[in-house]
Amino acid sequence: MGTVVDAANKEANRGLADLNPTVVFVLGGPGSGKGTQCANIVQHFGFTHLSAGDLLRAEIKSGSENGTMISNMIKEGKIVPSEVTIKLLQQAMLESGNNKFLIDGFPRNEENRAAFEAVTKIEPSFVLFFDCSEEEMERRLLSRNQGREDDNIETIRKRFKVFLESSLPVIEYYNSKGKVRKIDAGRPVEEVYESVKAIFAPKNEKAD
Ligand code: ADP
Ligand code: AMP
Repeated sequence: MGTVVDAANKEANRGLADLNPTVVFVLGGPGSGKGTQCANIVQHFGFTHLSAGDLLRAEIKSGSENGTMISNMIKEGKIVPSEVTIKLLQQAMLESGNNKFLIDGFPRNEENRAAFEAVTKIEPSFVLFFDCSEEEMERRLLSRNQGREDDNIETIRKRFKVFLESSLPVIEYYNSKGKVRKIDAGRPVEEVYESVKAIFAPKNEKAD
């Protein structure tokens, strides 16, 4: 039997399907530079940036009933249940007024991936994968200075483990479908962006 929430989700999906959105999943370990490069892509290529982590942190701040559960999972570096994250992504996509999205930090595991495709019927155009060594990511996270509760060495190690065990298989899945665009993300920001730009810029056209 359908609940009111099911009905609301169905409505949201109808709206999303009408948008016929272009979706790029932006994946990579914690601290690989996803947020930094997404900001550049937004500026030059007209995408809306949706960070799953940012949406979850905003949900905690809003005082939602799921806030405590989400907060505890983030402190442990664990993956929040798909239905929570997918609902936040759907809402943000509909509210954006855009139809081009960079979805950053999602899907984080196979279940996230399958649930998103099943619920929204959206297939990503491609997956931008920021490949970076743990040593470099650790260095960046420890100097990020955004006051994040999960940027401490203990949680960082847990997040690396979750990335290797749960998120890399998602990248492998899309790789087997020829959809992964891998970037060497261990270089300076400007150099990484040169590689990113080459992927987004239409051939024979120059972007800023
Ligand atoms: P993510 O979104 O993948 O977790 P961020 O974009 O927040 O990563 O980057 C993590 C930290 O590393 C930030 O403090 C950011 O300024 C810094 N950073 C991002 N890209 C680079 C880079 N290519 N070289 C050095 N530092 C970087
Ligand atoms: P991030 O801001 O991408 O570094 O994510 C910080 C934390 O938010 C992660 O360690 C997870 O606990 C949680 N999180 C982020 N994205 C997701 C997601 N797609 N699914 C579930 N949990 C997530």
